Amino acid sequence: MSDPAELHSNTAVLTRGFDPRLSVGSARPAVFRSSTYVFESPEEAERAFAVVHGHAAAEPNERADLIYSRISHPNAEILEDHLVPLEPGANSALVFNSGMAAIMTAFFTFARSHSSIVYTMPLYGGTTTLIHTFLEPLSVTGIPVPAGDTAAIAEAIAAAEDPCIVLVETPANPTLIMTGIRAAARAAKRHASKPVVMVDNTFLGPVFQHPLKLGADLVLYSATKYLSGFSDLVAGAAISNDPALIERLRSRRSMFGNILQPDECWMLDGRLPTVSLRMNRESKNAQRIAEKLCGRPAIRRVIYPTLFTDPDQARIYKEQCDYPGAIFSLDFHGGKPAAFEFLRHLKIARNAVSLGGVETLACHPRSTTHSGDSKEELDRAGVTDGLVRVSVGIEDWRDLLADFEQALNAVG
Ligand SMILES: *Cc1c(COP(=O)(O)O)cnc(C)c1O
Repeated sequence: MSDPAELHSNTAVLTRGFDPRLSVGSARPAVFRSSTYVFESPEEAERAFAVVHGHAAAEPNERADLIYSRISHPNAEILEDHLVPLEPGANSALVFNSGMAAIMTAFFTFARSHSSIVYTMPLYGGTTTLIHTFLEPLSVTGIPVPAGDTAAIAEAIAAAEDPCIVLVETPANPTLIMTGIRAAARAAKRHASKPVVMVDNTFLGPVFQHPLKLGADLVLYSATKYLSGFSDLVAGAAISNDPALIERLRSRRSMFGNILQPDECWMLDGRLPTVSLRMNRESKNAQRIAEKLCGRPAIRRVIYPTLFTDPDQARIYKEQCDYPGAIFSLDFHGGKPAAFEFLRHLKIARNAVSLGGVETLACHPRSTTHSGDSKEELDRAGVTDGLVRVSVGIEDWRDLLADFEQALNAVG
């Protein structure tokens, strides 16, 4: 057989990492719910603790990792082995019990007091709150930079005093403004403090955007969204090309106790082989619908990567993304009343926050997901009163288009 390291991701996700001989020959992984693991001798227990505490190095093929399930457990390890081939350039991964848990653990691993964090604005609301309410009181200065402003990001990084983290979220939610990952990573590498470059890749990864290939150090996910794909579990992941960096995160995760539990690991693991099928279908659906809704009189603007008019945004999209993805936003002339009327009339698409599921969801960000932001922040980020965000699923696109059209007619 060919070297597993050389297999394509769609094959590797089904063939590497899981050994049926360790699960009584079961073709698919079993669930190991045990909280603790039995040693064959006190010497083996002593050795396992020495390895976990870093006092001794594990021999190749030595399994010294299974001690207690807050530290690690077989279903987390199987899932982590299957996440790696999905992220081009990666060699190590960790799973967490939410996307926020992954982001929080990454912050608390690499933040130093009296340092700074440079980040694109807007970020996921929870991430912004985490910076303001946890990092800043610990004397980590937050330096926000408008998403998409390549020159401003490079300048902010160069001017930052002892930056420990550069965090890029691209495309931005819900305006899909894209930030060049390569340019941000280059600026970070030039800084003497060598900040860790993190990318929240929830919207387009792991299928359409590959931050490690563009110079990022750590890719963060809300696995609740596309990786899981059915709006029925909450999970997070951190993936890297630097095992030492992942080891630092792992020791924090052991202390925080925010590893993903065995049942959820097993569920998420079963979803990974179809993530590329689902995302491709969802992206094709979204593109067909977004392009057909363009020019409808009730809508000021359809926000979608293939419809970008700003040349710099179009360039970043072309250089950085394989496909446009499954999120689009509609900006209604009629403001909030029109947006609400549209949502009220949808019959197939459901009015819910979150995204990345096989079912189509729509929401009004300004009054829901982004309602914690100030008016100034919302206006600056382009999150208008008339904006509706849509996450397109795998339904037949013709039915979805008909649903959107009848709801548009109701708006008038
Ligand atoms: C949902 C989301 C998060 C938070 O993830 P949870 O799994 O809900 O904790 C972080 N970043 C982005 C871009 C998200 O969409």
